[in-house]
Amino acid sequence: MTIDTELQTAHGVALLHDPLLNKGTSFTEAERDALGLRGLLPPKVTTLEQQCAKVLSNVRRKATDLDRYTYLISLQERNATLFYRVVMDNMFELMPIIYTPTVGLACQRYALIFRRPQGLFISANDRGRIADLLRNWPHTDVRMIVVTDGERILGLGDLGACGMGIPVGKLSLYTACAGIAPAQCLPVMLDVGTNNKMLRDDPLYIGLSQDRLRGPMYDELVEEFVTAVQDVFPKACLQFEDFGNTNAFRMLRKYEKRVCTFNDDIQGTAGVTLAGLYGSLRITGGKLVDKKFLFQGAGEAGVGICNLIVRALMAEGLSEQAARERCWLVDSHGLVVKSRTDLAEHKLPFAHDHAPVADLLAAVEAIKPTALIGVSGMPATFTEAIVKTMGHFNQRPVIFALSNPTSKAECTAEQAYTWTDGRAIFASGSPFPPFTLNGVTHVSGQGNNSYVFPGVGLGVIASGATHVTDEMFFVAAKTLASLVTESDLASGNVYPDLQRIREVSVKIAAAVAELAFARNLASVPRPRDITELVQSHMYQPLYQDYV
Ligand code: NAD
Repeated sequence: MTIDTELQTAHGVALLHDPLLNKGTSFTEAERDALGLRGLLPPKVTTLEQQCAKVLSNVRRKATDLDRYTYLISLQERNATLFYRVVMDNMFELMPIIYTPTVGLACQRYALIFRRPQGLFISANDRGRIADLLRNWPHTDVRMIVVTDGERILGLGDLGACGMGIPVGKLSLYTACAGIAPAQCLPVMLDVGTNNKMLRDDPLYIGLSQDRLRGPMYDELVEEFVTAVQDVFPKACLQFEDFGNTNAFRMLRKYEKRVCTFNDDIQGTAGVTLAGLYGSLRITGGKLVDKKFLFQGAGEAGVGICNLIVRALMAEGLSEQAARERCWLVDSHGLVVKSRTDLAEHKLPFAHDHAPVADLLAAVEAIKPTALIGVSGMPATFTEAIVKTMGHFNQRPVIFALSNPTSKAECTAEQAYTWTDGRAIFASGSPFPPFTLNGVTHVSGQGNNSYVFPGVGLGVIASGATHVTDEMFFVAAKTLASLVTESDLASGNVYPDLQRIREVSVKIAAAVAELAFARNLASVPRPRDITELVQSHMYQPLYQDYV
């Protein structure tokens, strides 16, 4: 149902219960008369601005971030316009509440805080009827779907059906950061069971209390889901999110050429990290081809970033092999080297000729990287010795602790700056507050894929792209890096100010759409002004006049 048809039928209390139409106390006198609302609201009519001020003061009065999250999600379920208006006007303050780090805590407590479905729960028991379930969703023009099976939620592991908080949070960012209309967004939890015994044994757990499906049964369920999406929402882009890496790489390979899809942990993270590396170059000087990169973590994020760095290095003239040799990975068994026999397929392109190295400190000493990038979900693994060693052979060591949420960060901003006497170029997956050392205030960047996926999604929707390609993430990275100002860099931040995220998303979307047209992937006519096309797709959180 479109918003307009919904409005034709909604009336009285039903209108107040429809989050996309509800204006709460902002319904005018005339609307109250015409829409059967008289008496259902307190008499005073308030403006959207007054409502925002009230919401913000309520948020700030809450005792904990989880309370703030619960309050804001209830608001989203009640009045989406007001929710997005408050969030968009206060990105810096509220993004850490609706997304990482607080969303991690919310997922861990999801069974307790769940109130109303904000997306679809599709379980292994729904085999054979998934298309029917999709048709139960009240909106028909879905353009962006975020689906998870809950196996690798942030760095928190298998949270089963409680992982639903992630698609909900990601799609909130699609709307807040890039203006994808809420009615075009669909969060999906594909509940295939959980191997988290604590959840399975918890009588209050909301998902299937059974072992995770594996093998052909799992693949058949995903296949039915992907096919049903093509059937019911043919214009939708499908984002895979927080799948375990054994399935994530396989599903990406299986579907990327067939449908409009991408994996944000693999490709979006790569885009934001490459942008951060380009930003770092503006501080350190030199070119990407002069640098070496060492990753702690050889999973979706680590290998995804390496693949995009290889593309960037090849664009600067290196051969594929030479480009790969600039990227080194450390996993739970040490440095990824050719002689190892325990390597998963996705690591093989980055297994180089080198003697085995057992731990990260020894790897840093052996490889002498320019940048150390943490994507292992293992907290506090960038120790003082490791960070100081990075500082010995780099004037400005690049230290990115990208694991989420904050409790999983490889080191804190304070540690990175303190252990390098303020020389580190630091970014983290979840935000850290500014830190002052010897009178200098360092503002670290948030190396989070939320800088990239909303703009990519908007570009794909605006151009009607039939596929999402790695090249789109490459242009997204270059565009994002180009938006970092000298003053951002002067404070130590290799990303643009978060408050500019809508402008950033428009620029990324225009670059992605431009590429879609250039590569014949677009399904709408090429307009004269691509930025205008992109902007015409953006939702604004403003109340409509109903009478
Ligand atoms: P993954 O499960 O695919 O990979 C994790 C990797 O870490 C595996 O290769 C594993 O072998 C390795 N590992 C585990 N313990 C280790 C140890 N002690 N030492 C070295 N390596 C170890 O997960 P992923 O999708 O790559 O995500 C990893 C982390 O990155 C998570 O915490 C996630 O939140 C974070 N991440 C951040 C962003 C962002 O935008 N900042 C995006 C994606 C993922």
